[in-house]
Amino acid sequence: MKVYQCDQCEYASVSNKYRCPSCRTGQLQEQDVSSKGSVYSYTNIHIAPAEFAHLAPYTVALIQLDESKAKVTARTDGNVEIGDVAELDYVEDGAYIYRKC
Ligand SMILES: [Zn+2]
Repeated sequence: MKVYQCDQCEYASVSNKYRCPSCRTGQLQEQDVSSKGSVYSYTNIHIAPAEFAHLAPYTVALIQLDESKAKVTARTDGNVEIGDVAELDYVEDGAYIYRKC
């Protein structure tokens, strides 16, 4: 998957920006890294916004990528715990869907 790494500081993100929002001087460089990572934190969503109501209950996890400092906000299909290893399953309407390895 693509991540954007600042050429001046440690900032990295999965979304591209014109300038680094952290140091405000660096340019973000596109990198291709493995989608594999581990669960940094997660939240179980029981009452979802209208557009996601049909999916509830579901879990939103913050995945710390193995090969980048970037974290990915992802939906997961089941119970996950902090530290679980997960990888990208598929992308749906721009949302990352991860599953436990
Ligand atoms: Zn920066």
